[in-house]
Amino acid sequence: MDLFEKCWAFTEAREAQEAGFYPYFIPLTDSEGTEVVIGDHRLVMIGSNNYLGLTTHPDVRRAAIEATEKYGTSCTGSRFLNGTLQLHLELERELARFMGKEAALVFPTGYQTNVGAITALVGRHDFVITDKDDHASIVDGCNMAFGEVRRFGHNDIDHMERVLSRLPDDAGKLVVVDGVFSMGGDLARLPEIVPLCKEYGARVMVDDAHAIGVVGGGRGTAAHYGLNDEVDLIMGTFSKSFASLGGFIVGDDDVVHFVQHHARSLIFSASMSPANTAAALAALKVMEEEPERIERVNEIAQTMRDAYRRLGFDVGNTVTPIIPIIIGDDMPTMVAWKALYEAGVYTNPVIPPAVPSGSSLLRTSYMATHTDEQLEHVLAAFEEVGQRLGII
Ligand code: PMP
Repeated sequence: MDLFEKCWAFTEAREAQEAGFYPYFIPLTDSEGTEVVIGDHRLVMIGSNNYLGLTTHPDVRRAAIEATEKYGTSCTGSRFLNGTLQLHLELERELARFMGKEAALVFPTGYQTNVGAITALVGRHDFVITDKDDHASIVDGCNMAFGEVRRFGHNDIDHMERVLSRLPDDAGKLVVVDGVFSMGGDLARLPEIVPLCKEYGARVMVDDAHAIGVVGGGRGTAAHYGLNDEVDLIMGTFSKSFASLGGFIVGDDDVVHFVQHHARSLIFSASMSPANTAAALAALKVMEEEPERIERVNEIAQTMRDAYRRLGFDVGNTVTPIIPIIIGDDMPTMVAWKALYEAGVYTNPVIPPAVPSGSSLLRTSYMATHTDEQLEHVLAAFEEVGQRLGII
């Protein structure tokens, strides 16, 4: 059989495209953050992770331009060799300070951060224990690590304890959870997870990709619960609140130093570009100098969660600016996506395998820079579409 048979047989995406129901890889003609243009169609963007609206902030833009002018467009090499700039070290120092940890390490992407940290730390005879709703980059890191993987039901603490209790006492153990779950917008139950990990001798790593800049005054889920010193490693990404591209971990100096010398996704991949590094640094500065942005995105999130619930939508257990509109079956979800798209609202339809079968949803997320008028437009569109399609 020809290796490419599977490619020729893969017709679903093209069929969906031809039927006009293909919501993926849509090229934007223009984007100013809260609104985007596709062809000549203008939409309010509620499908982005630009939580603080910093992609267009003048300081962040200027920092990226000036870094490009000073250092050029690329580092053309790994952090390990020729790809470390003073700018990377400055970003690491600032992140460690901001997050209240000894050390930080930046990676080319958030995906590579999870893969690199998990594979470096979870060796043969070790165990990594994850929530079943953890991000794909954690799943992939676990699959690539030499240690054994165990999973527990989403935020199911009893299940987590059963899993931990069955592992050998003397084995190394790492529990990895999303701080804010990327589809549901709910928080990891750290006040229960952390003491259990201590009891069973497991280290805790929290993926705060969607939490930093949003939750805990911007410092993430552990800070939200007052558990910053108890969580061993916190991972973040620059592709969301930081309005850039890249990722990082913070933790104890010895652990970060070990990861720095063992994470293959760091060592064998080129470093963050000068523009991305400078943009992330500038975004961190804005986060600290303009805390009203963090307040505003959380106020908007509360208003929108309440409004959707009042209209009769199922938004699950979200407590953050990620608000899933849970519809159930795939086809009605796609029909709703298309109707909202035509009404000028950009959402992200999420269907299996990204969510369990029967739990398809429209993922919506909000920015500090959304105006009240834009949000009113979104709610009016949801109300009209929801009623017309019998969702509410
Ligand atoms: N972790 C989580 C929870 C995420 O949602 C994402 C991105 N969607 C990542 C990690 C990967 O981050 P990046 O986009 O920087 O690769």
